Amino acid sequence: MEPLRADSSGFSVSWLSLGVVLVTFLLLPEQLLGFSEELWKLQQKLRRELGQVVRSFSGNPIIRAILDAAYWILRKASRGRFASPCSPPHSLRGRLGGPQEVLVLWTAHQQPNPLHEETYILAWRVGDGKGSTWQEEAINENLCREIGGGPDRWGAILDLPAEAVTRIRVCAVNCLGRGDWSHEELEVTTTRAKQPGSKIRNVLAKGVQTCANCANPMSKEPGEAAYAQLVCRSVFQPDCKHGPFCPKCRERVAQKVLSCCVCRGLIESWRQVTTRKIPIHSQSQNNRVSEHTSVSEHTNSVVAMSWANAHVARLAEKAPPEDICGLVVVCSWPMPQPVLEQYELFREKLAAAMPKEAYVYPGTTLHCTICTLRAFTSGRMESSEKQRSSESWSKILDAARRDPGWPTGPVALKMGRPTLEGSAGIFRYEDTAGTIAAMRKALRAAIIAAGGEPAEGGGDRSKAKPPSGTPEGEPAPHIPDIVHSTVLRWTAEPADRAAAQEAFAQVAESWEPVEIIATAPRAVFEDIPYMHIPDDAEHTWWRSSA
Ligand SMILES: [Zn+2]
Ligand SMILES: [Zn+2]
Repeated sequence: MEPLRADSSGFSVSWLSLGVVLVTFLLLPEQLLGFSEELWKLQQKLRRELGQVVRSFSGNPIIRAILDAAYWILRKASRGRFASPCSPPHSLRGRLGGPQEVLVLWTAHQQPNPLHEETYILAWRVGDGKGSTWQEEAINENLCREIGGGPDRWGAILDLPAEAVTRIRVCAVNCLGRGDWSHEELEVTTTRAKQPGSKIRNVLAKGVQTCANCANPMSKEPGEAAYAQLVCRSVFQPDCKHGPFCPKCRERVAQKVLSCCVCRGLIESWRQVTTRKIPIHSQSQNNRVSEHTSVSEHTNSVVAMSWANAHVARLAEKAPPEDICGLVVVCSWPMPQPVLEQYELFREKLAAAMPKEAYVYPGTTLHCTICTLRAFTSGRMESSEKQRSSESWSKILDAARRDPGWPTGPVALKMGRPTLEGSAGIFRYEDTAGTIAAMRKALRAAIIAAGGEPAEGGGDRSKAKPPSGTPEGEPAPHIPDIVHSTVLRWTAEPADRAAAQEAFAQVAESWEPVEIIATAPRAVFEDIPYMHIPDDAEHTWWRSSA
């Protein structure tokens, strides 16, 4: 018995030490790994994956409370040493309390690191800057918590001089130092003492641009702003500057079947203009401090529109991402049986002919999107959120269905030959009876009646907004201007684009255009990307034929 006991205790000791090494590595401050990008990437990957495991457990309120307490203790015990570098706060707003008193509100940049900690520095300056200096005040107490704001929303009160124009800005600070100043500033115009009539307006900080697509202020980080280069000039807005686009919008545009500029011109590549050398880690994480940012150099790089899609790579590996959830209204899902049979043969031929980087969709995923209520790329949804969101959207969808213009007959479509449009291969449909157009029109009216404004096609998104009552940060709905089903995307960039185009065109020739009666519209939770979800009661939450 003796040697066995020694064995098992040796075994548990080695497991314990492995655990200690792993935890130490995970908690190592990021800047200590600056010497090796590989190690840093490994740490980020492990943190991400561990985060996913933790998130899958944290739906349970008891585990949630235990985790929150553990994070709190770790933060206090470490005195903020595990924090990440600060990023600028956003959504800066002001409310007048009196003629010279202003409540300044801002939202912390969300950090994935649960051990992140930061406080703020509020700065104000009288006049336009000539001869006046910024005064600063450290903000350690969140006034917003007392008046019932979210955990990331902060507030503080400032007393301003009378009869003056004052600029206010804010930055985050922790043991790693200060982050950049907010991209927005408040301009407060005060009247004479005790006189009403003071005014507040939001202004952009000096040198900050706004995205041409979403109108949000953009970070001054090198490589943030990019301009689209088009296949050919658009006829809709010949004077479009095709940018600048923020990284988020660039990704959003790249996810589209047809990647279009705000002027609706088809995008071929991106031009990035920076006046500083691109830091070595800039592709991995934008806010990472790099040793190279101080080197001044004018760069003008052209990046081809990538065909590769990270979500598709995960689908092909049979390990779909879990941090996503969309709300979509689709029709022809599942496809009518004869179409599925014809597609199965086509799919086999296509998969055999295309390069290995191509991912051909299973027949069960084929569908036509009528309207995207929430793009799946907007992040995961807790079950309570799903419930609340689907309930409020159901009311809007019911209103659309009650619209006299909502079609009552079958959805008749003509399914054409597929084409490869670069990042995606698609079937286009002819909306022969105008059924889908009529549904989209009724949906648009119902969304507007609910206080929202859908984005349309590849057009301007800056005015789009979700219905009133939607939590802050949720995306606006989107109504496409084509009827299509995607059949192919790319796990990685193909070696030879021209060869891929040719192979696709050849197989597409064999597809006989077919007239179909699509299955009735319904709304679903798209919690696996690109409709790779099962057809069950858990996923479908609204039907047009109620
Ligand atoms: Zn944008
Ligand atoms: Zn344009």
